[in-house]
Amino acid sequence: MTTIRLPTAPPPGTVLGAAPHLTESADAYRATGGYDPAVDPEELLAHLAASGLRGRGGAGFPAAVKLRSVRGRDDSPVVVANGEEGEPGSAKDRWLLRARPHLVLDGLVRAAAVTGAVRGYVYLSDAAAGESVRRALAEHPPPLPVEVVETGHTYVAGEESAVVRRIDGGPALPTAKPPRPFERGVGGAPTLVSNVETLARIALTATRPDLRRAIARSTLVTLSGGPAAPMLTEVPYGIPLRTLAARYGAPEAAGALMGGLFGGLVDADALDLPLEPGALTAAGTALGCGAVHFLAPTRCPVTTAADAAAHLAAESARQCGVCVSGTSAVGKALNGLAAGTAGPDTADSLLRWSQGLTGRGACGLLDAAAGIAGSLLRAFPGHVRSHLAASCPVCAAAAPADGRHRLTVAVPEVASPLTAAAPGNPVPVLKGTS
Ligand code: SF4
Repeated sequence: MTTIRLPTAPPPGTVLGAAPHLTESADAYRATGGYDPAVDPEELLAHLAASGLRGRGGAGFPAAVKLRSVRGRDDSPVVVANGEEGEPGSAKDRWLLRARPHLVLDGLVRAAAVTGAVRGYVYLSDAAAGESVRRALAEHPPPLPVEVVETGHTYVAGEESAVVRRIDGGPALPTAKPPRPFERGVGGAPTLVSNVETLARIALTATRPDLRRAIARSTLVTLSGGPAAPMLTEVPYGIPLRTLAARYGAPEAAGALMGGLFGGLVDADALDLPLEPGALTAAGTALGCGAVHFLAPTRCPVTTAADAAAHLAAESARQCGVCVSGTSAVGKALNGLAAGTAGPDTADSLLRWSQGLTGRGACGLLDAAAGIAGSLLRAFPGHVRSHLAASCPVCAAAAPADGRHRLTVAVPEVASPLTAAAPGNPVPVLKGTS
């Protein structure tokens, strides 16, 4: 179950909107100023540049720079709304496509207008999201052809070169770069692959340019790991991680797994950091897609690292030799460490891999595995030592069921407005069960 928590009084310009438990209709979206045909693409691009909006898929690249990189090219560009979130701790993109498909499609149309794109795609794996987007396209047909392309849900399927490959009819696997999609993407055309939350924020900026800075400086976050059910909410940049932990219901958190699996582990002191991409990167971690898995004091960070590495090893697309051997080695070492059966040189091996594997795969999965290993050694050296001595006090005190960590977060349930209005058919307000 995942719950959605609204900001105290959701102002205009929030991605969550006022009714996140419902699928927004085209009429409701238009009533907020959406799909306004009078918005000038040049002006919008200037607002996006001034706002400093960064992408929300994980890399955090400036949105205006990315739009310009495609716009400057001759061939007929293509735009893609990327809703395939591979991080197991994130639910925001699937929720967004299920609940606010018009906000995303408006952002896609705006991006097409800025770049001069002649066709668009919505790329996803979640069946409910696909249904919602298809309904929205029928309800408000866009001014350019937009096709929904579905893929299987994997950790790497949303990586931008995998997106291009899948739309072109191939497997959803990353390719070597260059060329990057903005140079040669779908069908060989310059292609903008943009995360759906980024597109939602582009659409919000088009509607409320006066709020551009607030729109660019707030973000959806998926919180998990504590005793409370996972939670999806929207917060301004700068909020301390510790405040976020308290709001979520994990005030005693002993650290966190940041950015999905991509930002690695941080200790309790790091919870004083502000949730802000630059500050987190400077501290050696990452906001990534905005998924934060807090570590309860009763949960051992070594087993969390082992579970994260096992997930990555299982999700390796097995097309780069170094990734197959690297993720498997990191996974086995961390699993042995968690089980108290690791050899004395395990910490040295993990350190070597954390430094030597980074940047060697065709996508970020191998980097994530290396980051998990390195961050565990940096943030929790005492726990690592305890596990090498097979005497971890946290694990000794944990109930058997607490031994492993559930890193996957369910998407909150969303109901159609029709269902909500039907008498005797109450909406499962703000909760999800899938
Ligand atoms: S690094 Fe791993 S997951 Fe990424 S493309 Fe290579 S084999 Fe696949």
